[in-house]
Amino acid sequence: MTRPATSSDGVAPSLNEAFVGALRTVLPQVTGPVQLHDPHFAGNEWAYVKECLDTGWVSYNGAFVSRFETMLTDLTGAGSCAAVSSGTVAIEMALRVAGVEAGDEVLSPTLTFVATNNAIAHLGATPHFVDSEATSLGVDAAKLGDYLGDIAEMTDRGPRNRLTGRRLAALLPMHCFGHPVDMDPLLEIAARWRIPVIEDAAEAIGSSYKGRPCGSLAPIACLSFNGNKIVTTGGGGAILARDPEVGRRLRHLTSTAKTAHPFEFIHDEVGWNYRMPNINAALGCAMLEALPQRLAAKRALQHRYGQAFADLNRVSILKEPAYAQSNFWLVAAVLEDCDLAERDALLKATHAAGFMCRAAWRLSHHLPMYQSAPRMPLEAAENLQPRLVNLPSAPQLLA
Ligand SMILES: *Cc1c(COP(=O)(O)O)cnc(C)c1O
Repeated sequence: MTRPATSSDGVAPSLNEAFVGALRTVLPQVTGPVQLHDPHFAGNEWAYVKECLDTGWVSYNGAFVSRFETMLTDLTGAGSCAAVSSGTVAIEMALRVAGVEAGDEVLSPTLTFVATNNAIAHLGATPHFVDSEATSLGVDAAKLGDYLGDIAEMTDRGPRNRLTGRRLAALLPMHCFGHPVDMDPLLEIAARWRIPVIEDAAEAIGSSYKGRPCGSLAPIACLSFNGNKIVTTGGGGAILARDPEVGRRLRHLTSTAKTAHPFEFIHDEVGWNYRMPNINAALGCAMLEALPQRLAAKRALQHRYGQAFADLNRVSILKEPAYAQSNFWLVAAVLEDCDLAERDALLKATHAAGFMCRAAWRLSHHLPMYQSAPRMPLEAAENLQPRLVNLPSAPQLLA
């Protein structure tokens, strides 16, 4: 049922009514609560997991782990891959091999899922928050370039924040909701300042930037296979590296730095137990096989939302940037002239109607643990975050 532009008494429908009406147009069959991004297993998942159970290869070193890693390098063109137990530890280890140490600062967005910044904190380093721009919701390169000109100075050990005296050890841009950040200007600024770049591509599997796959845009990139990502392994992540030697090192470090030996246990440095178990990789292989169909379904869903919301005042559906192909991980509605109370009332109305829409993540610098972290002025992120509402986006919703 489509909503009339005015209700029967001639009064224009409220924002909440019009919004819920548009959701119903796209998802008319929905009865129970529709979550933001439920997992859906429609391929070889059962067969591959059964194979793990039948053979006893449920833990590390199984064949599905290396198969999953190969599928990911084939997909992205990366030189090597290490599958790990979460996206968060993927970022932590990526930063570590890029040389980030305790006491350093890492330039990262405040408009991101908290894991991006937690990974920095787990190393004893500090996030240094940078602003986002409205096209991709990713790091604003122009602002970052100007800002570094103001606060950074070059030293023998790389650039330093003149205000805190700490090294600026890495830049960690993130592809928000699967929309690729404008990467080329960021890479150019990072090269000028000799700052290593790590791509937080946790949300961007299958997205591409000017024809290059996300996950291959920086020397090291991270993916997440958490339960609500497009490809899920239950929980999991991966680090992609251009340099095969970096990939080898990451696989070594994340598997307790154990050296190969037929019967002795020899570890040649302090390692981590961060590898992805085979049973999780089995799920990942089956889901990756279906990635093209899932991406096509998500693009169709985004298109349907775009049509259904086209006539709504004060609401637009975020589009993919002109330079990119997005995977449309989470469809985002952007509200105009909307305060927090109005947004919350809207979210309550969608929940009451069974559509479990969500607000965008609270900005990291507003969370208690990052309130005193260094930052540039963050007005764009402050302006955008309260106006973003994510819509149910799972690819099976249209089926
Ligand atoms: C999902 C996600 C991660 C990693 O999360 P895990 O739950 O640890 O796999 C990191 N960064 C972003 C932006 C994410 O969306």
